[in-house]
Order: sequence, then C-alpha cells, then structure tokens
Amino acid sequence: MNKAMGNDWKTIISLGAEGGSITLLGKEQQPGQWVFKKAVNEMNFDDLEDESFQPTESTEEVRPLKSSLYNRGKEATSWEKAIKLLDHYPWPLLNPREVHPAFRKRVWNALQKEVKEKYGYRIDSHRLNKWSKLCLPEYSPKMVTLSTWLQNSTHTTVLTGAGMSTESNIPDFRSKEGWWNNIDPRTVATTDALRNNYDLFHEFYSMRIDALKGCTPHKGHEILAAWEYKGLIQAIATQNVDGFHYAAGNKNVYELHGSIQKFHCENCAKSAKEDEFLSKSNCKFCGGKLRPGVVLFGEMLPEESWTESLSHIRKSDLVIVIGTSLEVYPASQLPQMTSGKTVYINAEVDASHHNFDLIIEGKAGEVLKLVDELV
Ligand SMILES: [Zn+2]
Repeated sequence: MNKAMGNDWKTIISLGAEGGSITLLGKEQQPGQWVFKKAVNEMNFDDLEDESFQPTESTEEVRPLKSSLYNRGKEATSWEKAIKLLDHYPWPLLNPREVHPAFRKRVWNALQKEVKEKYGYRIDSHRLNKWSKLCLPEYSPKMVTLSTWLQNSTHTTVLTGAGMSTESNIPDFRSKEGWWNNIDPRTVATTDALRNNYDLFHEFYSMRIDALKGCTPHKGHEILAAWEYKGLIQAIATQNVDGFHYAAGNKNVYELHGSIQKFHCENCAKSAKEDEFLSKSNCKFCGGKLRPGVVLFGEMLPEESWTESLSHIRKSDLVIVIGTSLEVYPASQLPQMTSGKTVYINAEVDASHHNFDLIIEGKAGEVLKLVDELV
C-alpha cells in the first residue's frame, strides 16, 4: 500500500499560494519521532478546482491524493530538514491555512528565523496576524506584531511617560486618580513657586520624594533593561523623573524632564545632597535655595537629553511610546519625527492616537511581559 494513501500523514503546515497549495506533511513513526515530506499542488493541474486535491482545512487528515505529482521529493527525518523542504518557496509570505497544534511553536520559530534572515518588514501585519493566530493562538496578534517588529528593527527608541511607572505605585500625574487633580501643578511645580512660595514648593517635592521611597522598578522596567542589554532597543527617552530606568539597569537613558534624585542650588547651580534639600538647608556655597533637578513649568527641557533623544528617534525604524498621554509638548511631537514604525502602549487609548502604526491598550508592565515572552 502506498504510504501516501494512508491516513498516517498529517498536515503540519498548509499554505495557500496563488492557484495552488503547498503542504508539509508529517508522520509520527514513534512517539516524538516524525518524518516529513512536501506536497505541492500547482496551478498546471487541469482539475485544480477539484477539492479532493486539497488537504482538508478542518481535520488533520490528508485525503487520498489522486496524482503522484502531488507528492514529490524525499522524506526529511528532522525538523530542520523539513523546513528546508519549504525553502524553495517564499513560504512565510504565502497564505497560512493550517498548522498542526503540536508544531505551533516550532513553526513560529522557523517563521521568525526566515523573516529575520530574508523578509524583514516585507511580511505585512495582515499576513503576520494569520500566522500568529495559527501558531500562537494564546497571544494577541498585536503582541506578536510588536515582538516581530522589535526583532527586525535595526534601531529602536522607547519613549516612556508616567504610565510606565504607575505599576510601581507611583501616582500617574495625568490619569483620573493622578496627583494633579488634587494639587494644581501650575501653582507648585513652577519657577514662580520656587522663587515666591518656597515653603509650598519644598513641601510638594518633599512629599513626592517621600512617595518614591517605597517604590522600585517593576518587571516592565527590568524587561526594557534586558532588551537594551540584548541589543533589541538602543535608547530610552523618558518624561519620568523617578530614575527607574537607570535603577533597572538601562544605560542609554535620556531624562527629558530631569531627575528628582538630583539636587542643586537655584542660585549658583552647584549640586547638593538629597538630605540637604529635605532638611530645607540653604546652599552651603552661596546660601541660595536648593531644588530638585526636575524641569519646572516655565523652564526649558535639558538641551542635551532633548538633542540626543531626537537624534535616536530620527534614525529609528521603530519607536515605542509607553504610558504617556502625549499632551506634553515637545515630547508629544516625537513619534511624528520618525519615518519608522510607531507603537503606542497605554492603559487609556483614545482617537488622538490613531496616527500610530500599532496601538496596544494595556498596562505597560503587562504588555511588555507578554511581548518579552515572544522575543
Ligand atoms: Zn548656591
């Protein structure tokens, strides 16, 4: 009996091409030990429309095949060789119809490797979504798309805002439960308050420094640090002043709004220690008022951080914005300054973000954890 006629061969990958199909078949000879072969149904078959030529969509069985031309080539005894059987075709770009459940992860890994080596961004997100639904049904296609872009980009910049830190239990300044609903920042975090209402200014920043004491970087910060170490991201520009990206281990961090962990004299600009600020001491050099190194309303952004961030963003082919409402100029303009792909991750998403290539609604740490599982 012809082996190909039996029911032992199962569809491992079924691909639809224009006017035909390509199928990788597999047979489990012993538990965990498979042999594979390729089956091609090309468009020069007279009875192409005859359904009996197609592997079934809904079952793992392959129907009896009419023509020996359908089955060609040799059998492969390893997964690596099996995938090589498909190399003759741009198989990642074809229409995936079926993936054997036991091979989902292996097919996905093979696909990722092919895409990275040969296709890059030529595989569009529509095709990628189809693959991810078959291979990684437990992941949202958006996570899969982001993980694929991340692995295929040559220069990635991440821009983070307050939402990056909310999972460290630092209040988000602009969300509904944020600080600013209780205390109007325009009256406190200003050069005017620093000069004319120092007691209030000092109280406000002492409170914020105190609130940070019990907070540490969360899993999402650690993932970004690991990604930098692995070369997946090249820089982080942050609107946060909490220093958590540094604390998590990132090195290329640009603090666009300064740092609440650094202090200096408002008058002579010499640096000071945190406890000197908290104890409300005056500058030991000139007697001036001490202040945290954050950007106050009415002040310019630190020029070097801004310039360096811009330079990274301009050469990025992927910019990932995490946890910022993008209301703060000029950071709000950053994503539009790149010709690369743009991704927006935030707990709250609205219509104003429509100009991003990919929008993921969710908490920073949770989204990053899922994407990290795929890279
Ligand atoms: Zn001074």
